[in-house]
Amino acid sequence: MKDVKLKDKWEVQAYRWVSLCEDEIVTWSDCQEFTLHRCTLDWSVRRKSSRGGWYASGPGINIAMNISVKNFNEVFRVYEYPSFDAHPVIGGFYAEDYNLKLGMIICHEMAHAVQYFRIKHLGHLRGKPHGVDFKTPYAALRKKILNPKLPNQKITKNKYEELVNSIVKNT
Ligand SMILES: [Zn+2]
Repeated sequence: MKDVKLKDKWEVQAYRWVSLCEDEIVTWSDCQEFTLHRCTLDWSVRRKSSRGGWYASGPGINIAMNISVKNFNEVFRVYEYPSFDAHPVIGGFYAEDYNLKLGMIICHEMAHAVQYFRIKHLGHLRGKPHGVDFKTPYAALRKKILNPKLPNQKITKNKYEELVNSIVKNT
């Protein structure tokens, strides 16, 4: 993305999601000391995946901005990790605003940051990367922060299917 103003706009949105997540996480009884030590918004086109985890000094996230946002609003499907993409709370969804995709990615990576905070700071055992120790904080963040902002899924799915059908007809 070359437009500096648009980049700024997306970065403001990203920090908003991060701070909503942080405000929620510190209300959890074992996470009162949780603070993000690193928050990198990486616009490099070479960066193809986001990450959340433990850095040298504490929990952190690194967001692959180029693949997370686009500057147009047309209905699309946001995909989650394949093993839970179909889940009603933590799965993928239909949307028309890339800010919601960005919100999903940030909730996902913040849940990994919590998972690693519990391993490294609280001494929990290391489970599967996308196992229950990830899914529990992720579901809590999704329910509280992102899911209430999602559009009606039935209506948006219909819109998406109409769009796909019109593309198929015209080619
Ligand atoms: Zn993940």
